[in-house]
Amino acid sequence: MLRTFGAPHRYVQGPGAIVQLGELAASLGARQPLIIIDESIQDLLLPQVMQGLGKLADTAHCVDFSGECTRAEVERLARMAAQCGADLIVGVGGGKTIDSAKGVRIQCKLPLFIVPSIASNDSPTSRLVVLYTPDHAVDEVLRMPTNPDLVLVDTDILVKAPERFYISGVGDALSKKFEAAQCIASGKDNFYDGQATLLAQSVSGLCYDTVREHAERGLEAVRRRQVNDDFERTVEATILLSGLAFENAGLSIAHSLTRGLSAIPGPASALHGEQVAFGLLVQLLLEGRSSSFMNDLLSFYGRIGLPKTLTDLGLQGDPAAAAQLIAKITWERAPYIKAFTYPLDQERLAAAVLDAHQSNY
Ligand SMILES: [Zn+2]
Repeated sequence: MLRTFGAPHRYVQGPGAIVQLGELAASLGARQPLIIIDESIQDLLLPQVMQGLGKLADTAHCVDFSGECTRAEVERLARMAAQCGADLIVGVGGGKTIDSAKGVRIQCKLPLFIVPSIASNDSPTSRLVVLYTPDHAVDEVLRMPTNPDLVLVDTDILVKAPERFYISGVGDALSKKFEAAQCIASGKDNFYDGQATLLAQSVSGLCYDTVREHAERGLEAVRRRQVNDDFERTVEATILLSGLAFENAGLSIAHSLTRGLSAIPGPASALHGEQVAFGLLVQLLLEGRSSSFMNDLLSFYGRIGLPKTLTDLGLQGDPAAAAQLIAKITWERAPYIKAFTYPLDQERLAAAVLDAHQSNY
């Protein structure tokens, strides 16, 4: 039995952090970075990225990413990286831009910097790459040989992003403590095909405690579009701790349910962290948590604005039929659905989805 732990080589967070970009790139010997940037934020962020690169801006190339993170799109970007002689990939944007940059890193074997523009999920620090089909279904999940060389989080940028992204990141972070506990107790491997270290277990607990303590006051910072200490703490939890926790301690029911929820009209359009937040309620129900525990968590959901029901996630059809379909697809497709301490079956999962929707705790 081997224990393994992985992480990005460097993590830098704070207001104005982007000014360090050029110095950190130069420290790796980079001369010609390729910036892969989300088209929708290019006008807003590209000038800051170029300024942050300093002298390297003169030799940097930029390519905009639009649409879907498909194998074909990754191949197109990798060809461009080769054509311009890039020696460093810098992915700037949301989840799909980041994953495209990771895909290019696999193909071109170049160092990778990640600069997230939103704090909506746990992907920036990880080495996982989710590829989609052209019609937006999950196609395959690849793994980079190592985690990113740098994750640079400029909180002045993140605090100005729409609050729904911040809230979604909180939803994604909340589940990690409970998923880690189930994965470890059932003896399943983490995403490095090994067992969790003590550090990974500790990180998953710290992630939950940090979000519960700071996320609400951090939301006030987002509404004022001005960083405060609670915002800083929450972002560290939703990007760094949340990413380290899932990759090193493993996942369970809450994340499994994103497979089923992503396939149902309505919930499919919800953000990843919103789906995970509802998935966590289903998991906790299956764990048999007390009503006082659930009421405390649900009141936090209410205050922060996380979904408590399938209707909150956008479902318009019959909840009972939706619960059956969500459970069926999750059961068939989620690789870690069995990372749970007692044997489940599809019927029991469907019943728990419906009970969570109806708040039968
Ligand atoms: Zn997640």
